[in-house]
Amino acid sequence: MALPGRPKVRRVSSHDAQLNALNLRSPTVIVPPQYLMAPSDANETAAAMELARHEIEDDATADSSPLTPPTSTVTDKFAFAFDIDGVLIRGGRPIPEAIEAMQVLNGKNDYGIKIPYIFVTNGGGKTEEERCVQLSKQMDIEISPGQFICGHTPMREMAAKYTTVLVIGGEGEKCRQVAEGYGFKDVVTPGDIIKHDPDTTPFRKLTEEEHQNSRKRDFENTTIEAIFVFADSRDWAGDQQIILDLLMSKGGKLGTRSETFDEGPPIFFSHNDIVWSASHDLTRLGMGALRLSLEAMFKAVTGKDLVTTAYGKPQIGTFEFATRLLKQWRKATHGINEPPETVYFVGDTPESDIRGTNEYNKHTDNRWYSILVETGVYQPGTTPKFTPSATVPNVLDAVLHGIERENQRQQKLKFQQELNTTGGKLQEFALLSPSPNTEKSNPLDAAV
Ligand SMILES: [Mg+2]
Repeated sequence: MALPGRPKVRRVSSHDAQLNALNLRSPTVIVPPQYLMAPSDANETAAAMELARHEIEDDATADSSPLTPPTSTVTDKFAFAFDIDGVLIRGGRPIPEAIEAMQVLNGKNDYGIKIPYIFVTNGGGKTEEERCVQLSKQMDIEISPGQFICGHTPMREMAAKYTTVLVIGGEGEKCRQVAEGYGFKDVVTPGDIIKHDPDTTPFRKLTEEEHQNSRKRDFENTTIEAIFVFADSRDWAGDQQIILDLLMSKGGKLGTRSETFDEGPPIFFSHNDIVWSASHDLTRLGMGALRLSLEAMFKAVTGKDLVTTAYGKPQIGTFEFATRLLKQWRKATHGINEPPETVYFVGDTPESDIRGTNEYNKHTDNRWYSILVETGVYQPGTTPKFTPSATVPNVLDAVLHGIERENQRQQKLKFQQELNTTGGKLQEFALLSPSPNTEKSNPLDAAV
């Protein structure tokens, strides 16, 4: 798909998608094989969001204005943001209503409109590209990496600040690859440390594969500048031992111990969810639990409070990033330099999804409307710790709820507008349709 004045977006089959190819910085949409020859209804949003993402990651182009925006059939008035686990996917399988929910967004609704959407997940340990390929396969849908915001997405910016870092979590070498893909120059794993000194973790031995993958290095001359928990730890005991060793070290040197316990490297978590919705009937412990555990152990061992930083939902940075993306998307596709008026955030976890959306809504000019679904962490019939704008059974109901609310909102606006028109010409109000491109052909004119 070629948009005027903007680069071409590649289309790659979800079955052929090679991570190495995706890591190249060229806009890409992941396509189920059956849509390769003829783009699906989801293509327009996927491609446009991908371009917008590339533009915000490159400040220079984000500030420049596109030429006349192309004709779009996608509404710019509102958008959806979805959490993934417990909303679209549970235990690796799509939640049945999720497939139809996506079809509704892509035009199969009473108003014949398409509605833009993005995915905001705390789930980590994979690049945005890998997450995209996985969801494309699971849901059989055309999507782009640009539509994904992961808990660890903001960590990309830390690569310029820290050279040698310890990366925790995920399967095998995955998180090292994610970190290197983010631009971190020297990435250490717990495996490297155990390979160097197996006595580090008395109850954990490396498997043959882990031993082979782990890198040999001279830790006498290594200073670990920061610790990043990219994904859930697969070995709490071993990982916590190594993290505590570093937190209590003199300036991030293994084998040393600070007397004041305030000389260790900083530690960052890609999110703070204490529990999450996996395939088990009951919720499972998540990264937030590891964080609590580490803070408690640090206090018990040193008597001091440990300062930790978490990204992801409900932290405001994640919602700010989503807003920047949606704003750039609207500017490029509709010539309006503002985010959509309403963003419907659909999530299953009150403590991260609902709390984050509600708090962000207090800080922002547009409306962030939280919708809680009953297919994940939240147990129907209980009172959620943070009150959503609406609670519905599943993601399809959430999408229909948002569309109906918009319809009523637009009708109310139209009614008010008619009341306000005193003898003058009645302005035509486009019900739920995209704003006309011709009205604001230069996005800078639209800037407030
Ligand atoms: Mg969830």
